[in-house]
Amino acid sequence: MSLLEEIAEQICSCQRCPLGETRTRAVPGAGPEDARIMFVGEGPGRDEDLQGEPFVGKAGQVLTKLLQNIGLSREDVFITNIVKCRPPDNRDPHPDEVIACREYLDGQICLIRPKLICTLGRPALQTLIDPTASVMKVNGTVIRQDGLTFVPLIHPAAGLHNENMKQPIKDGFKALGRILADYV
Ligand code: SF4
Repeated sequence: MSLLEEIAEQICSCQRCPLGETRTRAVPGAGPEDARIMFVGEGPGRDEDLQGEPFVGKAGQVLTKLLQNIGLSREDVFITNIVKCRPPDNRDPHPDEVIACREYLDGQICLIRPKLICTLGRPALQTLIDPTASVMKVNGTVIRQDGLTFVPLIHPAAGLHNENMKQPIKDGFKALGRILADYV
């Protein structure tokens, strides 16, 4: 068993925070162990909680299409979240839950050593990069910090509820497509 698989196994039996009691299945993440690009969302939703896989619901379908538009497939990237168990009613994860789960994400980043880490949405951006950052301001830009290179993006689910968000989401991923040439 690889170290990444060991982390996944620990996550699946974890009860470090209250989300462990309400989840159906934990969602450690999915993708190759040597992925050059990692996507980090906020937490599993209903479909992910049922299947134990990240980004398999409607937002996942949008993400798959956005990746295809820039020449990537799901198999090329590692996809995970800042918390590995579903927050009830899809609320944002609470700070104590994010802190409790952080060691798993740090371990995954350390083992995969991706060239780019794309945060999806505000909670991932504010957890990994800057607690005061606005996702609309930094969407599709390069931020180097702590020896890592980040590209914050708007969460694909934002366009499911708000038509006005569809274009900024596409613009962010288009920018990522251009950035890939320099970093990956
Ligand atoms: S969210 Fe993270 S810390 Fe909380 S129970 Fe799940 S795996 Fe453990």
